[in-house]
Amino acid sequence: MRKVREAPMDNHCQVLLDKLFQYIDGELPEDEWRAVSEHLEVCERCETERRIYVRLKEMVSCCPHEDAPECLRQRVLDMIDRAKGAE
Ligand SMILES: [Zn+2]
Repeated sequence: MRKVREAPMDNHCQVLLDKLFQYIDGELPEDEWRAVSEHLEVCERCETERRIYVRLKEMVSCCPHEDAPECLRQRVLDMIDRAKGAE
């Protein structure tokens, strides 16, 4: 396994994952959006999460937008756990 600037990323990953929904929804301020974007380019793990989120977002798009953050988050976290377990 090749390490790509891994050391400072852990905390960053956590912060990023909290913003991932807003990122995907295009609701982040431009500077934060860019920071997330740059991180996704160097962090395969977060990029993978992003793809999962995007797919799940499509799957749960029946949620009314205003209620989405909580129920979507729960479902996504649930699905991610399952996806990880399946790998
Ligand atoms: Zn990351």
